[in-house]
Amino acid sequence: MLIGGLEAGGTKMVCAVGKENGELIDRTSIPTRMPEETFPGLIAYFRKWEIQALGIGSFGPLDLNRSSASFGSITKTPKPGWSGVNIAGKLREALGVPVGIDTDVNAAVLGEVTWGAAKGCENAIYITVGTGVGVGVYVNGGLVHGLIHPEGGHMLLQKSPEDTYKGCCPFHENCVEGLASGPAIMGRYGKPAKELADRPEVWELEGYYLAQAIANYIMLYSPQKIILWGGVMHQSLLFSIVREKVLKILNGYIYHPLVLEHIDRYIVEPGLGEDPGVLGSIKLGMMELEGN
Ligand code: ADP
Ligand code: ZN
Repeated sequence: MLIGGLEAGGTKMVCAVGKENGELIDRTSIPTRMPEETFPGLIAYFRKWEIQALGIGSFGPLDLNRSSASFGSITKTPKPGWSGVNIAGKLREALGVPVGIDTDVNAAVLGEVTWGAAKGCENAIYITVGTGVGVGVYVNGGLVHGLIHPEGGHMLLQKSPEDTYKGCCPFHENCVEGLASGPAIMGRYGKPAKELADRPEVWELEGYYLAQAIANYIMLYSPQKIILWGGVMHQSLLFSIVREKVLKILNGYIYHPLVLEHIDRYIVEPGLGEDPGVLGSIKLGMMELEGN
């Protein structure tokens, strides 16, 4: 059986086809343009395969309320042309198969608990630190929805007293995305994050903010695994800075050997390389097909 997976991003659409065991058969990438220019390419790609279902992990915010008339839509996004677009509805209509949808980061955490670094965990979170900061939340064996869906990238943080940067989130000055995203680093230092590799103070501060956020997620969701990824995490020394600062902030309070003795196995990179999003999307398609 073949299932389609679509990782819908603001700059590119990663389209893939895979099997129920998580084996990818094919993948391609299409630039995200205006919806009317983008959908024909997506539809043509998935029509080439005999897929039984499609799963979408999309940029958001999304309407994920199944009883809503606009279920499966991107709601209000700064991305021109995409507000109100029912991405799941359009593809369901065009392809005639069941279509499951969730946020890009919820898809990624689902991929990781199904086949990756968090395999078998009942509770896990996936954090991406890139142009934005997104957090996928898997709790008690399911993805968290609710009023909308978690927006952990906008959790508020305590600013470092030495940090004079105002924050780049247009909604909140001191949220994770506002203080620790790639654009925040660029805004604070006037250079892209990649060019600041040899400035230890950049990564100390970055680690301080990410560790605060992670400590909060640990205390709220009690995850058994924390997966950290996104462009900014290509600075691999950040992993050890974050782990050390998480331990310092928790200060022994979360009394579990995985945290206290094996934090290098607790806060980790994805097990699925570049593919947690598309593989998680394939799993979303499978779940839709099976009716759960
Ligand atoms: P997106 O979030 O747009 O999907 P990415 O996860 O690749 O894409 O994140 C892009 C951000 O990551 C940019 O702000 C960029 O400055 C930053 N970035 C990319 N490569 C590196 C690197 N090697 N070191 C630090 N930051 C990086
Ligand atoms: Zn914010």
